[in-house]
Amino acid sequence: MQRRPQIKATQPIKKTVNTRAKSQAPAVASQQRRPDVGEFICNKQQRLEAIGDFRQCKDKCLKHILTNAEKLFQPKKIHQQGDWLISNKEKNQTFESYQKPGVKNLVTPQRNKIYIFVIDPKIDNQFAEKLRKYCTAFYTDMIVEIKRPESETFLEDLEVPNRESLWGKQYNAISILNKVNKMVPSDAYCMLTVTMQDIYPYDSWLYVFGWANYVSRTGVFSFVRYQSDFSPLSKLLAGFQPEPTEEQIKKENNELLENACYVMVHEIGHMYGLTHCTFYECIMNGFNSFQEQKRFKRYLCPVCLRKLQSNMQFDVKRRFRDMQKICEEYEFQEMAEYYAKAAKY
Ligand SMILES: [Zn+2]
Ligand SMILES: [Zn+2]
Repeated sequence: MQRRPQIKATQPIKKTVNTRAKSQAPAVASQQRRPDVGEFICNKQQRLEAIGDFRQCKDKCLKHILTNAEKLFQPKKIHQQGDWLISNKEKNQTFESYQKPGVKNLVTPQRNKIYIFVIDPKIDNQFAEKLRKYCTAFYTDMIVEIKRPESETFLEDLEVPNRESLWGKQYNAISILNKVNKMVPSDAYCMLTVTMQDIYPYDSWLYVFGWANYVSRTGVFSFVRYQSDFSPLSKLLAGFQPEPTEEQIKKENNELLENACYVMVHEIGHMYGLTHCTFYECIMNGFNSFQEQKRFKRYLCPVCLRKLQSNMQFDVKRRFRDMQKICEEYEFQEMAEYYAKAAKY
């Protein structure tokens, strides 16, 4: 989930053996023909194979979704030039391949907490609490906790390298990760560090939305690029624009929350061992830009839902109801409608 205008796709991978950021990763130059706009990534047979044999599935709601997958969900296709799957060849991770040893990062009673480490005082408690609640509903039955550092100048205190850019100050994401790795609580399933500071992984990259290390189950993500006034042009124009109305401010804050929630659960999905989805339109699809991320569906497709359920063993209908409730409360219109429908399956 990043733009990398100045670098060959394979370069960062050579540098990061352990720091595998799936959202940034694989992209090894494919020998195959690249898919075109409008083309599906997998054919129907591949999609059904990805779902696998579900005759023994005991969860009625899940079974309904798996049976009707082709009717209820849209196959993943290329929408526009520049889409993630044009330049990144992703391996198809079927339900069956997810069951292989070492793929699933297992939830255990000793490691059952998701920590959201809010290192930026610009993210207030109310916003952090909303992230926590959304995450609790999405990763049902997990304990989600907000953690904050004692200092308000956390990145400076840790002497994280930074630089000036076109967009202002940026901090090195890999250095942040290396430093927070030592602070991961022992009962953490994973820990996500969130900030409103712009971040970059390597000097040659312009910026990155997030960076993750799946071995230590940590990631760092910045929400700053989801702010409508982020670009230098909008900052410049701000002085010439009329003051935004209360309604506009509310709408913008809501969009920021919505995107922050989505990127957060997508990245946590990687911690569960889910790779980028190539089967259906799905929250686990990879994305190259904010525009592409905004376009895709913000729910788990049948394949990814089945994978996650096999790891966490939740009741699918109950999860849909919880998600409906939270999406209604947050006024995430499209998703509230989806979950309301799904909760009836
Ligand atoms: Zn990703
Ligand atoms: Zn999926």
